[in-house]
Amino acid sequence: MRGTIRGNVDADNRPLSCDDYADPGYSLDAYLEQYDPDTWGNEEPSGPLEEARVRSQQNQEERVRVSVGSNTRIVGLGDDARLLGVNLVLEDVDNVAVRNITFEDAYDCFPAWDPGDDGGSWNSEYDNLSLRGATHVRVDHNTFSDGDNPDSELPVYFGARYQVHDGLLDITNGSDFVTASFNVFRDHDKTLLIGSTDDPAEDRGHLRVTLHHNLFDNVLQRAPRVRFGRVHVYNNHYVVPAGQGYSYSWGVGVESAIYAENNYFDLGEGISAADIAYDWRGTALFDTGTLVNGRPVDVVAAYNAEHDPDFGRDVGWEPSHRGVHPTRVVPAVVAAKAGPG
Ligand code: CA
Ligand code: CA
Repeated sequence: MRGTIRGNVDADNRPLSCDDYADPGYSLDAYLEQYDPDTWGNEEPSGPLEEARVRSQQNQEERVRVSVGSNTRIVGLGDDARLLGVNLVLEDVDNVAVRNITFEDAYDCFPAWDPGDDGGSWNSEYDNLSLRGATHVRVDHNTFSDGDNPDSELPVYFGARYQVHDGLLDITNGSDFVTASFNVFRDHDKTLLIGSTDDPAEDRGHLRVTLHHNLFDNVLQRAPRVRFGRVHVYNNHYVVPAGQGYSYSWGVGVESAIYAENNYFDLGEGISAADIAYDWRGTALFDTGTLVNGRPVDVVAAYNAEHDPDFGRDVGWEPSHRGVHPTRVVPAVVAAKAGPG
């Protein structure tokens, strides 16, 4: 592919706004009035207005969701290939490569209010790139971000950010043998999810993923968050500025087996190595060779010193991969090689 491809356009490539997708029975003003927790309570939204929101969302989905078939290489030509407002989906496919593309701002015009999620959250539908039941996939030399639509400029309703973004790269539904390397993930909240449910039916024994030589620059959480998967996380560079709402990088979920090796963290003022991992009902995490601001750190020890229950270190497997870089060269190698072009 070449140049910019936009998701929010009609069949003649004319721009579509959120108003163009909205069902006649939906407006944000009406939604905010009807489902205000002060009057509606903590039930999930339901009824004709919620149904109209769903229809509106489906109108947008028909335009922005693009599926990819098996045995496909999607490669950006030059250094300015861009998917803007697109949710690229690899579903039940095998043998796909996605390379040299700038993914920006897969926004949802119709976020849903979920009063039960983390004290109340606005949730959106579209990842930039979604892998569902996808096997043998390589994702390399891409950049993922919210583009010129950062969360920091989104409004707050019911005390929560009106979040129009979901994941940058989500790997779910029994996907397997996935490698994401030399990508840039920038300025985003929920970045990279591996496994979307605690139900083992599809994911147990799958979700074998390798993440290496990626730059995670000012991403707030899920870098990655893992359930069930055996995930080798090595030679990534994490830049975590102060004052941006950082939550954690490694989400240790149910039956997850993260093997983290030679990753480099730049942590801003007031952010500690104990913040790098987060317990999403996991039990073990292995890390070796981590450098934080140039100094060796045992992330599991730092975590265990501040939190209970402790993580064990036995994740039950070891990657066969060799050729891991020494940690101290990771920022330079990633800066030189990650992203398109
Ligand atoms: Ca998602
Ligand atoms: Ca402890």
